[in-house]
Amino acid sequence: MPARPIAALAGGVGAARFLAGLVRVVPPEDLSVIVNTGDDRDFFGLRVCPDLDTVMYTLAGEVDPDQGWGRRGESFHCLESLRRLGGDSWFRLGDRDLAVHVLRTQRLRQGARLDEVTAELCAAFGVRAQLLPMTCDPSATLVVRQDGTRTDFQEYLVRDGAPDDVAAVDLSAAAAATPAPGVMEALEGASTLLICPSNPVVSIGTILQLPGVRALLERRRDAVGVSPIIGGRPVKGPADRLLPCVGAEVSALGVARLYRDLCAGLVIDRADAGLATPIEELGLRVRVEETLMRDSSVAMRLAGAALELASPA
Ligand code: GDP
Ligand code: CA
Repeated sequence: MPARPIAALAGGVGAARFLAGLVRVVPPEDLSVIVNTGDDRDFFGLRVCPDLDTVMYTLAGEVDPDQGWGRRGESFHCLESLRRLGGDSWFRLGDRDLAVHVLRTQRLRQGARLDEVTAELCAAFGVRAQLLPMTCDPSATLVVRQDGTRTDFQEYLVRDGAPDDVAAVDLSAAAAATPAPGVMEALEGASTLLICPSNPVVSIGTILQLPGVRALLERRRDAVGVSPIIGGRPVKGPADRLLPCVGAEVSALGVARLYRDLCAGLVIDRADAGLATPIEELGLRVRVEETLMRDSSVAMRLAGAALELASPA
């Protein structure tokens, strides 16, 4: 199968909103999305893939619009019942969401690979962009706390509320994983590469750890990123607690420094217009836009701007 013209690296909510804008300015069939699986884990024996599901639900128009993750019109009867029976209930799994995890787990147990199951689920949801898990292998991100303990990423983020006692992020599982079938082909064959506004450490950084991926992007050095940091702060999530662990400043300039060897350009927010010159001095083209995706028209404009920056006239 020939590669699709556009390939994007993605985490969860920020990426999903951006990609929902993108598929309104280009045909969804033109897009392959390589999605972080470092956040994946089992709950109650079920395989849960938070970033794949967030992107899939969003592109399907099924996402809870307020949260940006989970399914719209969700109920939590199953989780509530599990809690009363003594089960863990800190990870919010809705009833409709659980149906996806049940089916995914069944197919994986039957021997299907995660990329195949993802394609089946996307077809069932009517998602025409190609969603590729970054790997089908174990790739769990671990957070090393200041007391030396290693915590599963969801436990750090959701159960513990993302405290600031992070000493390091352990991406060694991703570094030992093989890219899923289609991932290298999509990255190699695309004429446009995009890095979605996602956590540079635990979403994009995980994908870049996969053998061969960073080297491929560095060789091309034509990707365009969108900064997930606006005015020195993440829109949501723990990027401000994790960027310092990789020695990066929490700013669009810090993101630019992390991406400079991979990217030809970076879209930054209007609030960060003052950083355009220092970022250009790193050798990147810069586009200053509204990047807080409060609605789909902002996401569409942002996606259009990223495409223009990727292919300057
Ligand atoms: P997840 O949603 O937690 O799985 O992880 P992601 O890595 O995809 O998303 C979190 C990152 O997306 C954070 O660093 C946010 O700042 C960024 N983000 C979320 N929404 C937006 C937005 O509307 N605009 C921009 N520029 N970044 C965003
Ligand atoms: Ca995530």
